[in-house]
Amino acid sequence: MTNYGLVIDQERCIGCQACAVSCKQENNVPMGQFWNRVLTEGGDKIDTPSGGYPEDGGSGSLDMEYQPTACQHCENAPCVKVCPVNATYTRDDGIVEIDYDKCIGCRYCMAACPYNARVFNWDEPEQMPEEGTGDVAARPQGVVEKCTFCSHRVDEGLDPACVVNCPADARIFGDLDDEGSTVSKYINEYETDQLLEDRGTNPKTHYLSGEMSPGRPQTSDKMESELDDVSPWSDGAEDVPSDADGSDSSDSGGSPHSIEGDAAPHVPAVGSGGDD
Ligand code: SF4
Ligand code: SF4
Repeated sequence: MTNYGLVIDQERCIGCQACAVSCKQENNVPMGQFWNRVLTEGGDKIDTPSGGYPEDGGSGSLDMEYQPTACQHCENAPCVKVCPVNATYTRDDGIVEIDYDKCIGCRYCMAACPYNARVFNWDEPEQMPEEGTGDVAARPQGVVEKCTFCSHRVDEGLDPACVVNCPADARIFGDLDDEGSTVSKYINEYETDQLLEDRGTNPKTHYLSGEMSPGRPQTSDKMESELDDVSPWSDGAEDVPSDADGSDSSDSGGSPHSIEGDAAPHVPAVGSGGDD
């Protein structure tokens, strides 16, 4: 059975917030709210480095690391368990969703979520549909909302908007139950972490940090991109040449970790949006 999940490669993430902005545009997220936030590890403000400045007595060794955070689509989702009207539920493909017609705004789910992933519409939400795609209907006052993994796009065979729009190719979406999927290869071949693993929620978002993964020809599997038509690689070519001389790194086995020698130069998601 399909079980969707996300890998976020923190070594690639440059903290540009494109995922956060594209999420707001795609999902018509109200002003002042975010379903997808990019946190800076080491500080409580955007672009706060960890480490200490020499003038403050530190070594001067500063480090920036970003942690994009949204609903983790937990397998054992506390929000699903506490919802008294079954407005929050898990789809057959593992995506945790909210039925906004059923939501009574009790906010039990917000209290239960250890990831602070949900937001509540206290007032009539102020939206700017002219700035977005308008594909997702606005939610009313008095309900809780959150990331859906762009289920409306997934249902059409498309990657989530944050994945397509990440210029660093730091986000990989796919089927965790398919051992051949790119997300499964990343989880199996690299050391990835889940947030707050001790809570037993088994989040479906996995974080990769500590080593730079090689460039890859595809972001996820079995997904299409509406941008494929303009991709320079879409003209019958199945693999993207990843080297300057046009040689194809996928010859080395297709696994993200199987590229021999120096890591292949990263292939930005030009045109294709990182989808295959
Ligand atoms: S779009 Fe990609 S690089 Fe930019 S903040 Fe999000 S994950 Fe990081
Ligand atoms: S991250 Fe929070 S809102 Fe998302 S499934 Fe887990 S408990 Fe529910």
